[in-house]
Amino acid sequence: MGDLLTPITASAEFQFGWKLCAFFLLIFTVALIFWTWRDADRRGGMAWFWAVVVLLFNVPGWIIYMVVRPPEYLDDAHERELEIRAAESRLTKDGATCPSCLKPVEPEYLICPYCMKKLKKPCVNCGRALKMSWGVCPYCKTKQTAGEVADAMAPTRTTPREPGPANKA
Ligand SMILES: [Zn+2]
Ligand SMILES: [Zn+2]
Repeated sequence: MGDLLTPITASAEFQFGWKLCAFFLLIFTVALIFWTWRDADRRGGMAWFWAVVVLLFNVPGWIIYMVVRPPEYLDDAHERELEIRAAESRLTKDGATCPSCLKPVEPEYLICPYCMKKLKKPCVNCGRALKMSWGVCPYCKTKQTAGEVADAMAPTRTTPREPGPANKA
């Protein structure tokens, strides 16, 4: 067998092919090490440790890295954290903050406990907290008049009055 292969292994073509393979293997290894180092660096892993692991074990080392590497890039994690924080602040803006003193309040508060600003009005029927601008209770469908008592009473007070004195005054 060895005698049969000797003319092949000794040939110039084989020597050249073997060197070419070794060259590509070297390039591949260097690229793999570089890729692993950069990937581990971006994910906040131990970049130099994994570069050495791939240098020593080549593809098996790279496979181990692929299995145990951090699941996401640091940039992605940072971005997601920012998004969560933005969503949280949006939530607080939507009604959990007093518009006057900006202190956190519960959505069911009728008045701000810090600055006494009137935040909501109670439903005349079921007593749930309603926005000041709502004309009807969305919970029990009762029309709200409490918020407009002043406006509603003004015309009723003038109606019984005779038109004469009203015009003179
Ligand atoms: Zn307040
Ligand atoms: Zn109601």
